[in-house]
Amino acid sequence: MSEKTSRIPGFYKLGMEERLKKVAEFSNLEKEETECFLKDGKLSLAIDKEIADRMIENVIGIYELPIGIATNFLINGKDYLIPMAIEETSVVAAASNAAKIARVRGGFKAEASDQIMIGQIQLLHIPDIDKAINRILKSREKLLEIANNQDKVLVSLGGGAKDIEIRKIGNGEMLVVHLLVDVKDAMGANAVNTMAEAVAPILEELTGGRARLKIISNLADRRLVRATAVFDKKAVGGEEVVDAFLEGYMFAAMDPYRAATHNKGIMNGIDAVVIATGNDWRAVEAGAHAYAARDGRYRPLTRYWKDEEGNLVGEIELPMAIGVVGGAVSLHRKAQICRKILGVKTAKELAEVLASVGLAQNFAALLALSTVGIQKGHMELHAQNIAVMAGAKGDQIDEIAQRMIKEGKVRLDRAKELLKELYGN
Ligand code: NAD
Repeated sequence: MSEKTSRIPGFYKLGMEERLKKVAEFSNLEKEETECFLKDGKLSLAIDKEIADRMIENVIGIYELPIGIATNFLINGKDYLIPMAIEETSVVAAASNAAKIARVRGGFKAEASDQIMIGQIQLLHIPDIDKAINRILKSREKLLEIANNQDKVLVSLGGGAKDIEIRKIGNGEMLVVHLLVDVKDAMGANAVNTMAEAVAPILEELTGGRARLKIISNLADRRLVRATAVFDKKAVGGEEVVDAFLEGYMFAAMDPYRAATHNKGIMNGIDAVVIATGNDWRAVEAGAHAYAARDGRYRPLTRYWKDEEGNLVGEIELPMAIGVVGGAVSLHRKAQICRKILGVKTAKELAEVLASVGLAQNFAALLALSTVGIQKGHMELHAQNIAVMAGAKGDQIDEIAQRMIKEGKVRLDRAKELLKELYGN
């Protein structure tokens, strides 16, 4: 067990500065690192102008999101504080609550596979498909060598192109070569795309065809991560709640309309951490949903069942194309500090954290949905947001939010009325 604990009771009641202090203690942040988030009580910018201007094109400024910390996470026996960058109410609280329940039975167990990404080379107009396949297979070693010549750093770390697969698509009008690349601690798109482009001319020579697209696949089904947790039946609220939960889960298992929302909830948690760590959330999203539909029907990314003692067991499995080096991960200062807060050193470990967060998020949402309903938990912050939208400031926000909740009328028109009644504005 780790000596540090992510179990920080009352964390949510602290002020922003006090919370940051706790996180700094947990993750040994330097003063300069904490000042990246808050300086003299004021929010600091994520990235400086120059870096932003180099990251994308036609830059006019920087777009900010709140970063919250999910507490209570115990994953493979190690405690984690989880930075989440997200605009949606309740996600951070829900993840923390789920992690608290999972802790009762030892937290999450997670295991990521090797970091294998797929580069695709599309070959068209091949005169003899079977002969082409034969010639590609015979040239396997040469193709891998050419691919590996593109990235000596990756190869020196034990990564690089490891294998080749060939897929016939349609009635032989297209041959697709898959280059399987171990990208180690990178997300890998640049590395894989460069390799795919380098082998394409040789594939044209070997097949007598034309190479068209050469690009990574976001269906990263060779780079999977799985996490499981046992949610104690008493901590969940008793056997009846476990049964209600499983009935709710069955809906997602049987209906793609529900499964889409179920998986969206999973991604609430995963995306927030993917964004906080500077990773490409579109790549992770694309991989997750393609994997959810891998057998031709869209399905939930989690499974739940009861163990012999009646506890609820949850499991998640999905592709996880993220990195701790390369891309924006290495450029974005706050992303680097978020990684330090997490204390993850490898892409494998980050993938294991992400899968655990996804499972936690899904468990929390289904628990709320199958018992009190989702709106109850949302209401407090939702009401505050409505009050702000109506123009409330400072103490007015809480006052108006509380009154609307009490009245059961959390609506913009009511917030405006109250603002007028109470404060004359
Ligand atoms: P990158 O090229 O910046 O960094 C990866 C490189 O870092 C490796 O090739 C290797 O040479 C080096 N490296 C050093 N230490 C390493 C280690 N421990 N493990 C692995 N590599 C190490 O970045 P990338 O990860 O190849 O590409 C990611 C970027 O590509 C993201 O910004 C993503 O948005 C973008 N992208 C995505 C897609 C897609 O998903 N379809 C397509 C194109 C680009």
